[in-house]
Amino acid sequence: PNTPIKRALVSVTDKTGVVDFVKALEDEFGVEVISTGGTAHVLEEAGVHVIPIEQYTGFPEMMDGRVKTLHPKVHGGLLARRDNPEHMAEAAAHGIGMIDLVCVNLYEFEKTVANPDVTFADAIEHIDIGGPSMLRSAAKNADAVTVVSDPADYDEVLDEMRANDGCTTLELRRYLQLKVYETTACYDAAIASWLAGRYDAEFGEPEEEGATPEELGIYLEKAQDLRYGENPQQTAAVYRFADEFAELGSSEHPLVGAEQVQGKPLSYNNFLDADAAWNLVREFDDPACVILKHQNPCGSAVADDVTCAYDRAFACDPKSAFGGIIACNREIPYELVEHAFDENGQFVEVIIAPSFSPEALERMAKRPNLRVLATGGTGGHARYELRSIDGGVLLQNVDSVSEDPATFTCPTRRKPTDAEMDELMFAWRVCKGVKSNAILISKGKAGIGMGPGQPNRVDSALLACERADEACERMGVEKGGYACASDAFFPFRDNVDTLAAHGVTCIIQPGGSKRDDESIQACDEHGIAMVFTGARHFRH
Ligand code: 5GP
Repeated sequence: PNTPIKRALVSVTDKTGVVDFVKALEDEFGVEVISTGGTAHVLEEAGVHVIPIEQYTGFPEMMDGRVKTLHPKVHGGLLARRDNPEHMAEAAAHGIGMIDLVCVNLYEFEKTVANPDVTFADAIEHIDIGGPSMLRSAAKNADAVTVVSDPADYDEVLDEMRANDGCTTLELRRYLQLKVYETTACYDAAIASWLAGRYDAEFGEPEEEGATPEELGIYLEKAQDLRYGENPQQTAAVYRFADEFAELGSSEHPLVGAEQVQGKPLSYNNFLDADAAWNLVREFDDPACVILKHQNPCGSAVADDVTCAYDRAFACDPKSAFGGIIACNREIPYELVEHAFDENGQFVEVIIAPSFSPEALERMAKRPNLRVLATGGTGGHARYELRSIDGGVLLQNVDSVSEDPATFTCPTRRKPTDAEMDELMFAWRVCKGVKSNAILISKGKAGIGMGPGQPNRVDSALLACERADEACERMGVEKGGYACASDAFFPFRDNVDTLAAHGVTCIIQPGGSKRDDESIQACDEHGIAMVFTGARHFRH
């Protein structure tokens, strides 16, 4: 039941359009208009007659305007429910008339504090109290009251009144109601944020020197804060590329944005390691599992099903798997989780996969701290990677050459068998995920020997061979018959000699050293088949 607007209260800081609006209210619809000091003054000057607020309430505006409209005759007239007889009786008993329209815009707080020389007292004086109070009272009662908080809406209000015998529609009042709470929310947020800045300046800890992550905000938006960085004394946050720059960082199923199904918040190191594990495992077409620790895949395998891939990845190096990250390129079934927790007693920081079976989720929920990430799929990979260095950043394409084995060459007398070639391709892929200098030894499509990050390749090779021998001993399988991948060429034949001594029978590496001949010669002496890929895969 709409009723025509009979009485209005107008109190505006931004006087734009107010004269015409009030003139129309009075002349066209006979509305009685009440107004506060400055607004009344402007209207009177323009020849529009209004009732001053002090006359209406019987109270003077006081305390430098701090108290103008905060009066039951105002708020009662706005809040009374017209369809509630008790409200209306109480209003009548106290001489409170109904106010059907409020036109208010607020003291310009933000404009005031935008002046760097603003005093604290001046800013505080520009916090509007009566204005938001009226807006909120009127908006609460939008079923009956039309609340106009923006000069841009004056015309629409008048048009509706013209079309509806002096009434507005409920639809418009609801729209204006929403606008009020949006306006007052922003207004209070602006006050709070300015006060917070002043508080920090006066009472807060001195700001630390140096760039803050926030300054990257042009390209990046914060995805989440982290408790700390690589170490507890470092602060950190995760950022995702802003939409305009999405092509810099996103893939079809990015890590940032993956659904965290359960578990403690991810730490900085969790993110780094989950990223390395995820990017490695998503490269495989067959069911694959990577167990990653401190940036290196200490377990890796492909198999006919993902649980089997996990079992074999775990068997590569159970000692190192403790506290690692499990990444799989298939939905994780119950059995895999059971094997990890119950059979292997593995402590896991993060499990990441495209999805999880309901039973797996149920089982994992019993370890509420375990972080579980569902990416939704494996497609795509980031196109670029950024790293910061002193004074700038490095940017490069992600190392994602899809290599065609048809372009590989074999310089040795013995050529790899099909089975050896299959094994070499597995080792080559995993090796890409190992820190340089990287040597990866595999057997049965499991990365049983890893030699990461040594400053010379022979030490990496030695480490990898020792790990592989240990793994075979543990699993009770024959040592030797290994395939080996090296992320870059062998500078001398000593690598080949070391590998041969530990039972490596085939090797894949980029080639390209000026002493390739020596390495080929060594392979031929040991009966090793060696494949050159032409492209190296450093990971620093
Ligand atoms: P005027 O220029 O009419 O004197 O003042 C208009 C401004 O006063 C409007 O921005 C309105 O929000 C604000 N206002 C209205 N009533 C009160 C009140 O009781 N206290 C304070 N602090 N501001 C008010």
